[in-house]
Amino acid sequence: MKSQQEKARILIVDDEKMNLKVLATLLKEEYTPVLARSGEQALQHAWSDLPPDLILLDVVMPEMGGYDVLKQLKNDDKTKHIPVIFVTALSSVEDEEHGLRLGAVDYITKPYSPPIVKIRIRNHLRFVHQYKLLDQLAHLDGLTEIPNRRRFEEVFRREWARAVRNGSPISLAMVDVDFFKQYNDHYGHAMGDLALQGIAQALERDLKRPGDLIARYGGEEFVMVLPETDLPAAKIVAERARNTVAELRIPHEYSEVAAHVSVSIGVGTTTHQGRAISPETLLEAADKNLYLAKENGRNQTVGSVFNE
Ligand code: GH3
Ligand code: MG
Ligand code: MG
Repeated sequence: MKSQQEKARILIVDDEKMNLKVLATLLKEEYTPVLARSGEQALQHAWSDLPPDLILLDVVMPEMGGYDVLKQLKNDDKTKHIPVIFVTALSSVEDEEHGLRLGAVDYITKPYSPPIVKIRIRNHLRFVHQYKLLDQLAHLDGLTEIPNRRRFEEVFRREWARAVRNGSPISLAMVDVDFFKQYNDHYGHAMGDLALQGIAQALERDLKRPGDLIARYGGEEFVMVLPETDLPAAKIVAERARNTVAELRIPHEYSEVAAHVSVSIGVGTTTHQGRAISPETLLEAADKNLYLAKENGRNQTVGSVFNE
């Protein structure tokens, strides 16, 4: 049995109180119905912090009709994936075609058969569930099970835009394992994989703020996105990450800088105070600092501010 919290939320939108009641009664055993009496109310729910998993939408309503509600939902990245099913007395082929063309996943005409409505809803919720699983998988790195580079690109772009808007600082930290080729050569590739898994998981546990992200950038290289973080704070995070990896005490007899696996870190910060740089430039800057950290002897952090 699903607990109350796990029940899918279904937003039912209809200007007729009676219609809302009938559908809510039909669904309340299996789902959590949320009711809206107008298009405006429906959008408020959809844009709230607790959006519905599926929407049953009436077409003809005073003020804002169902077609307009759907158009607005489709126009917004946050709501465009919520499946919408029209439930309406408009039963012509043209109406149905119009509704489906706008992007509704289904079109149910009144009078409807309650069991069939339930089955259709269940099927669409299954699709949503599968979509979410696939979406999660597509953004996770297979070996380390932390976010992958694709996820990094998305988050970095989003956080960069936010930083520009707010005029706030943002930092990147590139983390690269030292002498990892020697590690693989001497301990074997399977042990190398285990080491990468341990490092990734430890780095992820280490990040404290909800907005922070660590991703596998590729090979034995990781990247951290640190929004609202100036250079001194980013260096603290980087040094903590470096210590965290050191404390794993993964033996590395063939490292030239330590008895255990260590990392070098390059930090780049932009404060968005001076002339704007591009996100690509900040990434290159962090990478340059990583190179310097390697050159200076590895197992250390090098960071600087890049504003133009
Ligand atoms: P440096 O201290 O300069 O960073 O030297 P390095 O040996 O770490 O760097 P280099 O780029 O020469 O070698 C990186 C090595 O990381 C090569 C490759 O065998 C190993 N590696 C990359 N991805 C994986 C992986 O998924 N699994 C394992 N086991 N090894 C990997
Ligand atoms: Mg390396
Ligand atoms: Mg490397």
